[in-house]
Amino acid sequence: MVDWVAEDDLIRASQLLAEAGLVTATDGNLSKRTDQGLMITPTGRAKALLRSKDLSHLDATGNILEGPVPSREWAFHRAIYMAKPEVLAICHAHPDFVTALASQDLVRQERFLFDAELRFPQLGYIAKMTPGSDELARAVGKASLSANALLLANHGAITWGQSAVEAVQEMAALERWARTVFILQRGGS
Ligand SMILES: [Zn+2]
Repeated sequence: MVDWVAEDDLIRASQLLAEAGLVTATDGNLSKRTDQGLMITPTGRAKALLRSKDLSHLDATGNILEGPVPSREWAFHRAIYMAKPEVLAICHAHPDFVTALASQDLVRQERFLFDAELRFPQLGYIAKMTPGSDELARAVGKASLSANALLLANHGAITWGQSAVEAVQEMAALERWARTVFILQRGGS
């Protein structure tokens, strides 16, 4: 049975992600846990224009049950759902400041902002790995066990939550923190 509420959350979150300038056109991806496995945004489609029929539904092993070809990053979404039973939705994006700083070892950086301290007491760090690879999916699943969000070197970030909208809000907060770190670094140089 189609879960309209879950699909609406994913579509709304996809629009929010685009409106907030956290993705450009087709990049980034969003997913939600389902009874069968997960539903995820498709590859090559603009986040601002997505509709329910555009979502790709996968079973627990990644086979397509319904819909278009999924984002090539579906495997790391699945890895997080397997590692963290409490996570119901995941957001992956390449926001400007997070991506610019993700290649630095920011894991041990102070969060600087009270909000960031509360939201991300544990930031995970993934070294440079090929997007869409099994290696990346395995590393993401493992690192997510002890993290509140993940930074991907030379790539972007992953956030999660109880809803897709919440996962996008987490991404916005992470980007704001990264922007503050960037400003502080520039000021200190
Ligand atoms: Zn990506």
